[in-house]
Amino acid sequence: MAFEGLADRLQSTIKKMTGKGKVSEQDVKEMAREVRLALLEADVNFKVVKDFVKKIKERSVGAEVMDSLTPGQQVIKIVKEELALLMGGEQSKIKVADRPPTVIMMVGLQGAGKTTTSGKLANLLRKKHNRKPLLVACDVYRPAAIDQLETVGKQLGIPVFSQGTEKKPVDIAKEAIAHAKEEHLDYVIVDTAGRLHIDENLMGELTEIKTEINPDEIFLVVDAMTGQDAVNVAETFDQTLDVTGVVLTKLDGDTRGGAALSIRAVTDKPIKFAGMGEKLDELEAFHPERMASRILG
Ligand code: GDP
Repeated sequence: MAFEGLADRLQSTIKKMTGKGKVSEQDVKEMAREVRLALLEADVNFKVVKDFVKKIKERSVGAEVMDSLTPGQQVIKIVKEELALLMGGEQSKIKVADRPPTVIMMVGLQGAGKTTTSGKLANLLRKKHNRKPLLVACDVYRPAAIDQLETVGKQLGIPVFSQGTEKKPVDIAKEAIAHAKEEHLDYVIVDTAGRLHIDENLMGELTEIKTEINPDEIFLVVDAMTGQDAVNVAETFDQTLDVTGVVLTKLDGDTRGGAALSIRAVTDKPIKFAGMGEKLDELEAFHPERMASRILG
């Protein structure tokens, strides 16, 4: 299960606070130290941990006694609130175009889960929001990637726009948008090429697509299992493309939590969705507060 170690450690740390009718500075110091260690062990970015611990310390030392909560409970509430804020606070929704179709460009490294997530997102938009999506195959370098998207589309009964491997991705994307307009489709989800590592060619191509199609959203798909690597990848993609949101995949795995807890603070981009399994209905809107509750119990 995701966050297991972190959840165990944080829960046992804050449990010690529950019954406290008085919270001394020493109590706060001890708690802060344990929280710090728990986060570092979960592979959370060093600077993010430092800022986080500073905040909970400041707020906890000054914690007011409230009628309904003991000071100990108050401190727990502070940790929970700050944990949710660390992951973005409020849920971040898709920015919808004034006039359809809303164009969403999916980017990320190969293997992160881009193609699967494109399918999942289309499925979610249709099922939950009753929208008509179009999937677009722009990874022209890997015929297998095009086949994979077509298979996903078939499984879901969602149209896939593909033009083989001969055309330029940017032209395929433009034609797909024109096609979606003609067909009165609401969303165009562009599955772009990924590589095993970030390289200049890939970034050049993605920049060209972005410039030409001017998407409403650019979602970076990252594998939560890769911890701080995911955060570094996110930083680089964001510097070049100025992404609008992040999708964390494989949160059903036993990820320690480093990516989920660092990526927002490091990139300042919202986590919009979480992949919770391989199946095409296993994508959830990312709710920072619920995630914080899941971690803290
Ligand atoms: P792409 O190369 O980025 O397009 O990645 P794919 O969409 O092909 O996904 C790579 C692998 O990760 C596949 O085996 C997917 O089934 C798997 N995958 C994608 N998202 C998730 C997820 O949320 N949970 C799990 N467990 N597996 C996932």
